[in-house]
Amino acid sequence: MEMNAINDCVKNYLSHCGGGIKGYGGWTISTGSETVAGRGVVATRDYSVGDVIFVDVPLIVSPRALGTDGTGSWPVCAVCYSEMTTPTGCPGGCRLPVCGRQCADRPEHRDECRYVRQLRPKTKSDGQTWSVGIYNAITAVRGLSIKDGKYRFFLDVLQKKSTDKLTFEVEELKRNISMELDKEDEQIMVTTCKIMDANCFETIVNRSNKLISLKGLYPVAAFMNHCCVPNTMHNFNEKLQMIAKASLPIYKGQEITTSYTYSIWPTSLRQNHLLTSKQFICTCIRCCDTEEFGTKLAALNCIVKNCEGRILPINPLDKKSIWQCKMCTKLVSSTEMLCFYKDVETLMKSISVFCPKSFEAILKSFNIHKDSPFVIDLRLKFIWKSKNNSLNLEQLLYKEKLCMEMLDLVRKLRLGQCRLLGLISLELLKVIREKAYRFRRNWNTKTLNVFEGQISKLKEIYTSVLDEDANLDNNNIQ
Ligand SMILES: [Zn+2]
Ligand SMILES: [Zn+2]
Ligand SMILES: [Zn+2]
Ligand SMILES: [Zn+2]
Repeated sequence: MEMNAINDCVKNYLSHCGGGIKGYGGWTISTGSETVAGRGVVATRDYSVGDVIFVDVPLIVSPRALGTDGTGSWPVCAVCYSEMTTPTGCPGGCRLPVCGRQCADRPEHRDECRYVRQLRPKTKSDGQTWSVGIYNAITAVRGLSIKDGKYRFFLDVLQKKSTDKLTFEVEELKRNISMELDKEDEQIMVTTCKIMDANCFETIVNRSNKLISLKGLYPVAAFMNHCCVPNTMHNFNEKLQMIAKASLPIYKGQEITTSYTYSIWPTSLRQNHLLTSKQFICTCIRCCDTEEFGTKLAALNCIVKNCEGRILPINPLDKKSIWQCKMCTKLVSSTEMLCFYKDVETLMKSISVFCPKSFEAILKSFNIHKDSPFVIDLRLKFIWKSKNNSLNLEQLLYKEKLCMEMLDLVRKLRLGQCRLLGLISLELLKVIREKAYRFRRNWNTKTLNVFEGQISKLKEIYTSVLDEDANLDNNNIQ
C-alpha cells in the first residue's frame, strides 16, 4: 500500500473513532530517510515539550494472559477490566469472567460473546464458571472484530512478528472449545496475534484506584519506531485512548519516536530485550555511547584489587564485545561479564530493600556501585513500594535521596518530560510532604515555606507529565 493511502486510512480511522485528528495532524507516516528503520512517523511541524502529538484509538485492547493452570494472578473483568477476586463466568455463556450482568450486556461484548458461545466452550468438572483458556484467547477473538469492519486494511499494513511457532492465544481457544474453528477465522486470529506481538503497548487503566495493566494495539503508535532517547511519552485516558506528547522538543522533519523497552536499563539489557521481543538491534546515539551520556549505567566496578575504575564494553553494540576498565586497562570477556551480571542479579534479588543501611552495606561489601544494573531496579522498588507514613526518619530521608538521584539520572539520560520523571516527582512530593508534617512543630515558617516551594514545583512537573492519572498511587500496579 502506498504511503499516502496508509496516511489517509489511519487519519480516517482516527477521525471516525473519536481520536480527535483535528489539530493533531502535524505528522505523517513515511519511509523517508528521516526514519531509523523502514516506516516511521515524521513531524511536519515543530513541537514544544508537552505538546499533544496525537490521540490514538485502540483497535484491540485485551487483558494479559494468565498461567494456563489458572494460578498466579487473578483475571480482570473481560469487559470493564476491573480486578475480580471472585471471578464468575459471563451469564451469556461465553465463559469469559465478567463482573456481572451489566458488563455481560454491554454492546462491545455482544459479538464476541455470541461468537465464543457458538464455538461451545468446554466446561470443566471443577464447577468453575469461567475458563482460563477462553480468557487467554481474548486477543485472538477480538481480532475478528477488525475482519469485517472497514479497517481490515490494518491487518495487511501493520507489521507482524515473524515466527513459525504456534500462536498461543489461538491454541488456547482451540483447546477449550468443542467445535472446529473456521479456517479463515483462524487465519485472521493468527495474523492479529502476530500484529499484537510486534506492536502492542502496555495500556494502563485505573479501576477503583488500582492500576491495571492491559495490552493495546494503537495504529499510529504502531508505526512509531524505537529510540532509547525517545522524544515522546504517553498516557491513557478513560476511553483507553493513547495521548502521545512531546517529551523533548521535536523539529519539523524529525522522526517521532517512542521506547519499546525500559529507558532506565543499561544498554546491554535494553539490547537483549529488544532483540528477544522485537528482533532488532538499536543503534541510537545512546546505544553507541559506551558511557551512556556519562552515566556508565552498564558498568560494574573493576575486579582488580584497589582499582577504582569501572568495566564497560569496548563495543556496546556487540553482544560478544570485550569489556575493559579504563583506569587499569584490565580486559574481561563477555562470558565473564555475563556471569558477573548473573551474580549481581541473584544477589540483588535476595536483598530486602526496606533496610537502607544493610542495603548500602551489601553494595559496599560486594563492590557494586549504586547505579549498577539491577541496583536501580531495587532502588525503584523501594521508591514505589514503601509507604511514607510507616517509614522511620532514616528510611524517609533515604527515600528522598533516592528520588533525587533518580531524577538526576533521568536528566542525564536526556529522557526529558518522560513518565518516570512524573512518577518520581510525585513520589518525592509525597516524601517532602510527610517530612514537613513530621517537623511542622520544630520548623519555623521560613523553613516550611521552602518546602512548600519545593512541593509546588514538583506538583507542576507531575501534573504536566501525567495528566489525569496524576493522583494515582503507583504502588498499586497489578
Ligand atoms: Zn466488568
Ligand atoms: Zn459473554
Ligand atoms: Zn538505542
Ligand atoms: Zn581497573
